[in-house]
Amino acid sequence: MTIRSSISSRPSHRTLVAGGAGFIGSHVCDTLLRRGDTVICVDNLHTGSQRNIRPLLNHPNFSFLAHDVREPLEIEGRLDRIYNLACPASPPHYQQDPIGTMKTCVLGMLHLLELARAKSARILQASTSEVYGDPEMHPQPENYVGHVNTIGPRACYDEGKRAAETLMFDAQRMHGLEIKVARIFNTYGPRMHENDGRVVSNFIVQALRGAPITIYGSGSQTRSFCFVDDLVRGLEKLMESPAEVTGPVNLGNPHEMTIEAIAREVLTCTRSASTLEFKPLPVDDPKRRKPVISTAEQLLDWRPRVALREGLESTIAYFALEVAGREPSADSHTAGAVRRERSVRLTLARSK
Ligand code: NAD
Ligand code: UDP
Repeated sequence: MTIRSSISSRPSHRTLVAGGAGFIGSHVCDTLLRRGDTVICVDNLHTGSQRNIRPLLNHPNFSFLAHDVREPLEIEGRLDRIYNLACPASPPHYQQDPIGTMKTCVLGMLHLLELARAKSARILQASTSEVYGDPEMHPQPENYVGHVNTIGPRACYDEGKRAAETLMFDAQRMHGLEIKVARIFNTYGPRMHENDGRVVSNFIVQALRGAPITIYGSGSQTRSFCFVDDLVRGLEKLMESPAEVTGPVNLGNPHEMTIEAIAREVLTCTRSASTLEFKPLPVDDPKRRKPVISTAEQLLDWRPRVALREGLESTIAYFALEVAGREPSADSHTAGAVRRERSVRLTLARSK
């Protein structure tokens, strides 16, 4: 049976977006404001940035609350929806303070669940494909229980996110909360941090600067990359799906490719002469990753629409401005902006 959510006709909500100043969170805030929602963005700016939400700060339906979700939070007035995206997501960032990351995952989830209960709000957790660890099943369906090394350097994030999923389902069973769990696979796009450390942003910035492209290991490990607009559409569809749809639901693009192939694609799109530099593979780096998305297709009528080349072009356009030292405009991932940034890239290439 297909259960379709009717997003276009839905009423306006008062929505809290934890982690709303981050890469994905800021796009969630944009989308919800466009829908007519009132958005409260809660963020401690650990890996996020005010720049991501600066165009929203004067919006009458937007407010920003500087807060660390490891501390309890109270919100005045009604609250209909809570998106929990608050957590560093890039391996170098979440490994910088692993105990802090675990606390963000677990205490942050607990505090937001308490808030959801107090307000009778629906809550969505941004979980991750990392709950599958270094998977022994390929591709990964939601009923695969995973293969995580509990004592490795990635465990603070992987196990933190697994515990957060457990808390979501326990809160539903104990208190009848309306919960939604999205397992997000590798997502890229404008507003990733220039020094984020994740592969797509690293490769694009290196290519634009003419610096060596740092491939960890042999480059034969795979990932499946989803453009942020597709992901955000999926998150909203999940949030607005009927109450019985709890997830977990995989949200990702099943187009699997090797890391060396993504490096070559970035070089082609940027017309960069950067060389490939092979570096040691990080401990516990998953060898293969690809989502099974039949649950999202059937329950949400969702599948990614943006092809890799198109998504890369718009992400490159964004980073071209960053690298050139100019602030990207709020519409920097639109087609018009892509054309403008191409000229910036050409100027950069000529000045090398
Ligand atoms: P990001 O680092 O850009 O965003 C995370 C945001 O959370 C930042 O704004 C950061 O300042 C904020 N934050 C971190 N710790 C906090 C705390 N203790 N209190 C309040 N705010 C805090 O990362 P992203 O890629 O936008 O990821 C957003 C969410 O999606 C994360 O929960 C991440 O685990 C999940 N996710 C992302 C991906 C991906 O590929 N981007 C994949 C799987 C899951
Ligand atoms: N990676 C790489 N070079 C980089 C950054 C990452 O080769 O500069 C590799 C990394 O080892 C992993 C893949 O790219 O195999 C994806 O890494 P990322 O940190 O983006 O995401 P995750 O490992 O969490 O999927």
